Amino acid sequence: MNRRGILFVVSGPSGAGKGTICKALVDNNPNVFLSVSATTRKPRPHEQEGVHYYFIEEAEFMQRIKDGGMLEHAVFCGNYYGTPKHKVDQMLDAGRDVVLEIEVQGAMKVRSKYPEGVYIFVLPPSMHELKNRIMGRGTEPPEVIDERLKTAAWEYGHITKYNYILLNDSIDKAVERFRAIIKAEGCRVERNTEFIEEVLRS
Ligand code: ADP
Ligand code: 5GP
Repeated sequence: MNRRGILFVVSGPSGAGKGTICKALVDNNPNVFLSVSATTRKPRPHEQEGVHYYFIEEAEFMQRIKDGGMLEHAVFCGNYYGTPKHKVDQMLDAGRDVVLEIEVQGAMKVRSKYPEGVYIFVLPPSMHELKNRIMGRGTEPPEVIDERLKTAAWEYGHITKYNYILLNDSIDKAVERFRAIIKAEGCRVERNTEFIEEVLRS
């Protein structure tokens, strides 16, 4: 089946496990490309340039927007985040599925441009567990954690704009569910019209 890749957009509150799930998914699946975003946020100790993010200054970020290089961008808790456009289209055209791990405002902008995309919201098993995870990660000071948890409440208000929830009770189960979504979406009639015609002609 030769078809264009499918765009999967993954959102959810900070600490829900989006990054962990997406990494585990792509580690065992070469057909899925995980987009690397640009951000003005400072790198966390383990984060590598070009792997987790492209870490850039605000002036450069603004220039990239001006040059039309961003598919979308948003401000999240005081920092800019944006998706470089070129690679996403290149991968989709090459038939690879693409995952964007982005927050809600950006996801809604992408949805208006790619209505055929698949929009997934990662849910932690409880708010209590969300707090434990974000605190346990140990990457943000308490005031930033507070701001992110407040933002989570706003983000939950947008769940109905997504196609799927992805419960992250355990990483293995969440990744398995994500794989199931990818498989099912790849079988949709509207994504396989050329293949269907080929079969009917044979
Ligand atoms: P996000 O990308 O949504 O902000 P992360 O992937 O960084 O979240 O996960 C937040 C923290 O929770 C990390 O320390 C991660 O190891 C942990 N975590 C992720 N998924 C689970 C899970 N299912 N059970 C327990 N801890 C988890
Ligand atoms: P973090 O600082 O925890 O890495 O990311 C904060 C939030 O920004 C998360 O919700 C993450 O999904 C989101 N994010 C990461 N990259 C992008 C991007 O390119 N665009 C948008 N809109 N959000 C992003």
